[in-house]
Amino acid sequence: MQPNETHQPGLRSWVASAQQPGTDFPLQNLPHGIFRRRGSTEAWRGGVAIGDAILDMAAACAQGLFSGLAAEAAQAASASTLNGLMALGPAAWSALRLAVSRLLREDASEAIRLQLCLVAQAQAEYAVPARIGDYSDFFTSQYHALNAGRIFQPDNALLANFKWLPIGYHGRASTVAISGTGVLRPQGQTRAPGCAPTFGPTHKLDYEVELGLFVGPGNPQGGPIPLAEAEQHAFGLCLLNDWSARDVQAWESMPLGPFMAKNFLTSVSPWVVTLEALAPFRLPMPRAADDPTALPYLQSSAPLALDIQLEAWLTPAGSPDATRLSRTSYRHAYWGLAHMLAQHTSNGCALQPGDLLGTGTQSGPEPGEAGCLLELTQGGRTPLALPHGQVRSYLQDGDSVRLRGWCERPGHTRIGFGDCFGTVLPAR
Ligand code: CA
Repeated sequence: MQPNETHQPGLRSWVASAQQPGTDFPLQNLPHGIFRRRGSTEAWRGGVAIGDAILDMAAACAQGLFSGLAAEAAQAASASTLNGLMALGPAAWSALRLAVSRLLREDASEAIRLQLCLVAQAQAEYAVPARIGDYSDFFTSQYHALNAGRIFQPDNALLANFKWLPIGYHGRASTVAISGTGVLRPQGQTRAPGCAPTFGPTHKLDYEVELGLFVGPGNPQGGPIPLAEAEQHAFGLCLLNDWSARDVQAWESMPLGPFMAKNFLTSVSPWVVTLEALAPFRLPMPRAADDPTALPYLQSSAPLALDIQLEAWLTPAGSPDATRLSRTSYRHAYWGLAHMLAQHTSNGCALQPGDLLGTGTQSGPEPGEAGCLLELTQGGRTPLALPHGQVRSYLQDGDSVRLRGWCERPGHTRIGFGDCFGTVLPAR
């Protein structure tokens, strides 16, 4: 999709905070989420972020300001989950984006009526944006694959299949939780070298910087989604932290991959940034001259990479200060969203609206671009020095991790994802 009138950098909103420098939610973004007033018993409902406010879509629909396809999409966007909106597909998403963009513009005659439909983000609490039927997590960053591979199988760091297909595994939808949910330190079975296995709280709790893709229209069982059509099945992206217990992972993962090391909690950010909003930030997929030519079902010359800046911040227990642990861009991923969708359905596996696909930990080529502690500390061997004399190999109880994401490019308005955070709680 090409940028259109909704992406124009000159657009200004009658919501003044949408023009604040550095805001994640200017008029050019318009991400969807599920919210209610914090501490209330109000019904969960859909909203669109604008500046430091939320446009309450249920209230906006009640004003009768939408028509045609946009009205159908606006109704779906006001429900208690976004599954209905996700199911409608790109034409409806786009019609709604255009309508909301026009209603929120500086010169909109509907501004007075819509002012009553705003809720301050500072007064809101959020729910997971969709009823997630299935969650799968991929492994699309070659730098993460290399760095983690050097730790887990040093003789064979990048496995032979990595550049032939986006590898993934089936995760656990039941433990996907909204940003802010406490991270209860999980218990598990581990084995220290030369010792018998033991069961107890993990000593190697880690985070993973990822993006989460919410699936739009699904596919019937037996009906693969071709790569060229795959993005029509991609509703949008959130930040995703796939908390991991590395000592559990190291012991349990051969030969079937991660299981209990990953399924105790996955955190997602409240706002889902649509693929249309991300249109100005596309790039060609990174490929080296000696990379294998993809098999036809994974072959594309389209600009499937997205230049999304990703950061991880740590506030150590007892400290008032957050330290940035890493910064990278999603542009370095070897496989894109379309590849994930085409691969996942290539055998006829059915996806449904609201399914969640993780991109896998995103790391870049430089040391400060590693998206988890496993990589940043070389498996715990080189602890990080933090301000005030603290050190960390892995997360301690009371530590808070915050992921941030945004896109910026000369000639376009910066858009952001908000954040995704969690604080580690002691094992029960
Ligand atoms: Ca992961």
